Amino acid sequence: VTEVLACAPVRVKGLPIGILEAINPRAGQFAAEQIELLQGIAGLAGTAISHAQLFKETQEARQRYASLFEDSIDPILITDLSGEITDANLKAEEFLGIDCDDLVGRQIRDLHSVDTGDHQPEPGELQPGTSAFYTGRTSPIQGNSRPIEAHVQRLSIGEDDFIQWLFRDISERLELAELRTDLTSMVFHDLRSPLGNIISSLEVMQSSLPEGDEALESVLAIASRSSRRASRLVESLLDVDRLESNRAVLTKEQASISALIAEAVEEVHPTAEAKGQMLRMNLPKGLPLVEIDVDMIRRVLINLLDNAVKYTRGGGEIVISATSLPDEVCVSVKDSGEGISQEDQERIFDKFTRLDGESRRKGLGLGLAFCRLAVAAHGGRIWVESETGEGSTFSFSLPV
Ligand code: ADP
Repeated sequence: VTEVLACAPVRVKGLPIGILEAINPRAGQFAAEQIELLQGIAGLAGTAISHAQLFKETQEARQRYASLFEDSIDPILITDLSGEITDANLKAEEFLGIDCDDLVGRQIRDLHSVDTGDHQPEPGELQPGTSAFYTGRTSPIQGNSRPIEAHVQRLSIGEDDFIQWLFRDISERLELAELRTDLTSMVFHDLRSPLGNIISSLEVMQSSLPEGDEALESVLAIASRSSRRASRLVESLLDVDRLESNRAVLTKEQASISALIAEAVEEVHPTAEAKGQMLRMNLPKGLPLVEIDVDMIRRVLINLLDNAVKYTRGGGEIVISATSLPDEVCVSVKDSGEGISQEDQERIFDKFTRLDGESRRKGLGLGLAFCRLAVAAHGGRIWVESETGEGSTFSFSLPV
């Protein structure tokens, strides 16, 4: 008996993984429809195998997710796309003080509130694979409400789409930040009055110094300048804190910007002179008076001049100038220092930004942050124009 054989490939995702064979048809040969039927069965077998593989992969993914979910050190809740809780891990039960069975069926938004200014996404509005982040508090269902950071993510396993809400307890971090703020403001307040006493005592000593004692005069001048610098630093640190949280009270008065510039130049002059730098003023006559917190703007000027002196090599030139425009007065400090690259110009006004972190020049990176906040509190702006190697010009404007 001769064997008559018909074959059809079984494909999974387009790739042949086997062959379906039929042998010895009753008619002695295969009719076209029998071949077609064989091909159809091979197609179905391919689909069934591919479904079985998908099912296995989904099961494995589910198991992987389930162990990550239960072992997570953060509380995790799962909701459907309407925000109704379908599952919660052990940590979430502990954190919220509610059993999983009691959590299932509740709305996620009843379990926590969102901080003002932050946005909680509507569960249904999250696109597959996207996530959101916000801060808020857990609702005091079991008597305690705790600050949280929420990470929300829409996930898909197989055909199922769900939303994972991960709540991170941030009470400790907030307590630490509060403690640090309290501590710094306490330290600064406690430094302030002894520094004030040192400055006024030195002034008394300077005025009662016998004529002609140059050595003592110069020592006292150094002590005076250093204590004034320390006091300015403390004041500016306190101001940064107050200005950032809108707690600053400005004591504004009509003042001459020319006179203030002259005072600031006098303050910085000895340091520039010691470095052999030329410090010049270029002030037009008849600059209008400006309404400012004199002490604050004086510190802005000294800061910019101090930086110009600090970042310009010995023998360089520094020019401070002012111009009067229709609605504002503009002050510029131009140095012949190393300059600042375009990219760094964006960030130097941020707190604690120091470009020469590696160098030994000391600084906290707070001076320009204070200047920006102080000028903004007066309704003005501050900016820098510079090119690496070409010096920098820091300017600020004050409305008149
Ligand atoms: P500090 O001088 O204490 O580091 P600032 O906030 O005053 O802090 O300045 C931030 C950074 O900006 C400095 O570390 C320095 O790298 C850069 N910078 C400030 N002024 C100048 C300047 N005139 N020329 C070059 N770089 C400057």
